[in-house]
Amino acid sequence: MGTCDVCGNAYAKAFEITLADGSSHVFDSLECAIEGIAPRCKNCGVRVVGHGLEDSGVTFCCAYCMRQASSDAIDQASMASFPASDAPARAPSASAVPLRRSRRRGCT
Ligand SMILES: [Zn+2]
Ligand SMILES: [Zn+2]
Repeated sequence: MGTCDVCGNAYAKAFEITLADGSSHVFDSLECAIEGIAPRCKNCGVRVVGHGLEDSGVTFCCAYCMRQASSDAIDQASMASFPASDAPARAPSASAVPLRRSRRRGCT
């Protein structure tokens, strides 16, 4: 028996998830687990329930959103330094670029 951190339901089949930082959370359903711990895309705000993309600790739902939040200069520098097949998973110095938080629209 555990009590869901999100909705408060006490449920015999509740389960516990331990995160990389050592914190643990109890949920009664995957739905509540997603609501409780899935990160939100920094650009459009949707829950990232797949692998997503991470840049300097910031999570995005897709490449489009990551591009929206990164400067064109960094994108071009990455493209110039690496062949497309060897592009780095994390663009260098992206943390110095302020995110455009005002954008809130879905991905296509
Ligand atoms: Zn719940
Ligand atoms: Zn997004």
